[in-house]
Amino acid sequence: MIDGRARAAELRAAVAAAVPGFASVAHRPPGLAVVLVGEDGPSAVYVRSKERATAEAGMSGFVHRLPADVSQADLLALVARLNAAPDVDGILVQLPLPPQVNPHAVIEAIDPAKDIDGFHPLNAGRLALGEPALTPCTPLGCLILLRERLGDLAGRHAVVVGRSNIVGKPMAQLLLAESCTVTVAHSRTRDLPALTRAADILVAAVGRPEMIRGADVKPGACVIDVGINRVDAGGGKSRLVGDVHFDSAAAVAGAITPVPGGVGPMTIAVLLRNTLHAAHARAGLPAPAV
Ligand code: NDP
Repeated sequence: MIDGRARAAELRAAVAAAVPGFASVAHRPPGLAVVLVGEDGPSAVYVRSKERATAEAGMSGFVHRLPADVSQADLLALVARLNAAPDVDGILVQLPLPPQVNPHAVIEAIDPAKDIDGFHPLNAGRLALGEPALTPCTPLGCLILLRERLGDLAGRHAVVVGRSNIVGKPMAQLLLAESCTVTVAHSRTRDLPALTRAADILVAAVGRPEMIRGADVKPGACVIDVGINRVDAGGGKSRLVGDVHFDSAAAVAGAITPVPGGVGPMTIAVLLRNTLHAAHARAGLPAPAV
C-alpha cells in the first residue's frame, strides 16, 4: 500500500519549513489566491481544504468567492487584479466553471508565473518540451509517489488510462521525461485490458468506479489510482472509490494507492509546493529543494 496521506504530510511539512526562509528575504510569506465560483458541493469542499492547508503551511491565503452567475468579464477582471497583486504568487481558479464562462479563456488569462495548477498553455508547452515549468499538481503528486516507490523509472512501460489536460496528458509527459515507455489509453482504445496487463506502471484517471480489476493488472505492477468516485453504499450512505477495484488489484499489484488516502492528499501538498516554487521564481530566488 502506498500511503499518500503520510507522504503528503511530509511534503507539507517540508514546504512549511521552507516558508520562513522565503519570508525573511521577501518580507512576506508566499501567497495563494483561490477563486471559487458558486457554492457547488465538491468544489467548495476542495477550496476549504486548500484554505486550511495554506494557513497550516504558514502561507497567505486569499479566497475569492463569486456568485454562480458571475460573468466571464467579471471573472477575468478578478484574474487581472490577482495577476497584478504583488503578494499573490499563485492563482488557482477552481474548476469546473459554470457554462457562461469559458474555462480556456480564464486559464489563459492567468499569469503563467502564477499558474500553480500548471494548466496555462505556456506551462503545458514547457512540460511537453522538457523545460522547467509549473506542473499540474495531481500528476506531479503521482510521480513523487512512483519515484519514491520504484526509484529510477527509466525503461518501464507506463500505461496512463485517461487523456484529460488536467491529469492524463501531463502524467504521460512526466513519465516520458522519466524515460518510461508510455502508452496513453482513452475511451476509444481497443482492448484496454491487454494494454493494462502489460503495464509496469498503471495510472488510472478515468472517473469510472472500480473499472480496472485485478485481472487487468500485471503481477507486481505499481498501480496509481487517481479516480475519485462517490458510489452508493446502501442505507442512504455513500462512499468514495477509485477507478481501480482495490481488493482484487491489491492482490496482484506490487504496490497500489488506496482511495481515499492515496493521490488525493498529494494534490494539495503539491499545490503548496508549486506556490512555494512560484514565490521563489517571482522573487528571483533559486528554486527551493522541496
Ligand atoms: P476527465 O473526465 O476529464 O477524463 C477522463 C478520461 O478517461 C478521458 O480521457 C476519457 O477518454 C477516459 N475514459 C472514459 N471512459 C473510459 C473507458 N471506458 N476506457 C478508457 N478510458 C476512458 O477526467 P479527469 O482526468 O479530470 O479525472 C479523472 C478522474 O480522476 C476522476 O475520477 C476525477 O474525479 C479524478 N481526479 C482526482 C484528482 C485527485 O486529486 N486525486 C484530481 C483530478 C481528478 P476520452 O478522452 O476518449 O473521453
